Amino acid sequence: MIAASQKIGLTLSSSAVFPNMSDRSKQQRKRNRGTKNAIRIIKKPSPQPEVQDIEDAVSSFSEDETQKLRFALLDWYDHNRRELPWRRTSSNNDGCKEEEEEEEEVDSRAYAVWVSEVMLQQTRVQTVIDYYNRWMEKWPTIHDLAQASLEEVNEMWAGLGYYRRARFLLEGAKRIVAEGGRIPNTVSTLRKIPGIGDYTAGAIASIAFQEAVPVVDGNVVRVTARLKAVSANPKDSATIKRFWKLAAQLVDPLRPGDFNQALMELGATVCTPLNPSCSSCPASKFCNVLAISKDDSSVLVTDYPVKVIKVKQRCDFCVVCVVELLGSGGKLDNNQSSSEFILVKRPNEGLLAGLWEFPSVPLDGETDSLDRREAANRFLKSTLKIDTKKSSNIVLREDIGEFVHIFSHIRLKLYVELLVLQSKGRKDDSFKSQGNETITCKWVDGNALSSMGLTTSVRKVYSMVQKFKQKNFPCKQAPPKKRSRTTQKLT
Ligand code: SF4
Repeated sequence: MIAASQKIGLTLSSSAVFPNMSDRSKQQRKRNRGTKNAIRIIKKPSPQPEVQDIEDAVSSFSEDETQKLRFALLDWYDHNRRELPWRRTSSNNDGCKEEEEEEEEVDSRAYAVWVSEVMLQQTRVQTVIDYYNRWMEKWPTIHDLAQASLEEVNEMWAGLGYYRRARFLLEGAKRIVAEGGRIPNTVSTLRKIPGIGDYTAGAIASIAFQEAVPVVDGNVVRVTARLKAVSANPKDSATIKRFWKLAAQLVDPLRPGDFNQALMELGATVCTPLNPSCSSCPASKFCNVLAISKDDSSVLVTDYPVKVIKVKQRCDFCVVCVVELLGSGGKLDNNQSSSEFILVKRPNEGLLAGLWEFPSVPLDGETDSLDRREAANRFLKSTLKIDTKKSSNIVLREDIGEFVHIFSHIRLKLYVELLVLQSKGRKDDSFKSQGNETITCKWVDGNALSSMGLTTSVRKVYSMVQKFKQKNFPCKQAPPKKRSRTTQKLT
């Protein structure tokens, strides 16, 4: 770490600390100076004395470091980047392209960056590739996406988690198309689109529009925390601002998009959380933590960024009642194509907003089977208007298992029960008035359910139902036909 005396000895102009800062950022910085409460050193001599925060000085890169890091990272990226469907090399404009054609290409790139970056938040690259390809096949342009319904988008997103991201993508696309169809090309204008935060705005502006702005995600935090041996809590808002400043300082003004991707790629593939490959790292010469760890064996590069004790997750409980209605003459077996299942749409706000699920009833805590059934019965009767005694015969009611699903801040324990009903009359008469003004529900048959886009936990529940029925009510196999003696020709 740099000693305090060394820090105080530094006299850096603001352009040296932030060589890429826009005039707007410089003005902002000047405004901030009046409010900061840190120790200051005087820069001299200067006709207009400027002040410099000690913290700024110690955690910034020198001009020389900045240039060398840019060169090293871009060179490494050019030779090592992963081929991903949303990555394309910058198009060479040989002067032959019409302006309109060029604009279309940039817009299409901005849309691709937007979709991929939103999908990549909290999700692994390998998982995203398949979703991205399917998404682009269905909605290749922002205009196609703007025509989609929330239901279609949720279905396409099913399994990726954090469904608010999909809803915001759709809302953003609709807004942009309603306002003329051009994706904004600067961070400040992108930030006005619903769901586009600092990170996504920076990614789109730098990668698609070559605006020299930084991006900071978990990878960038890790790499910069190690390069500068930042020992402050990385979740703290002041530290986060510092990471943004460091990234802003490093970003290459000529290839901002490639540089940002290089920094993130380094974090994803070399400077990984647990096994960084320092010996093959293009930034190792500039890495403070590596230098410290060589001097002091008690320090590991993986000690940085410092680990923050996670806030304890909330524990919630619910009973999931899978209601299956047998078709006329339907039998209780594992052939579910003639059965129908009721799905309930979640409210449009909050966790898993607007998504379909089997009827789920919150519980106060760990409860026994009897209490869970009572809770489920109350919900079926009062909310879905399903009176199991009046309108149907109960063919089977069984607890089929339980599991825990982890959301970012909630640990949800789900008790799953299967309730199989046989309608006493025509289904349309017996079950026509399910739901009320606040709840939307629908019956879907087993085939449709298997092919629907469902959230991971709903799919898990359905698979529990299938396994339970396969085990307890296997379909009777038709006896194999006798083979004829004549050889069949296979075509
Ligand atoms: S030298 Fe090691 S710790 Fe430092 S940036 Fe490279 S991989 Fe990360």
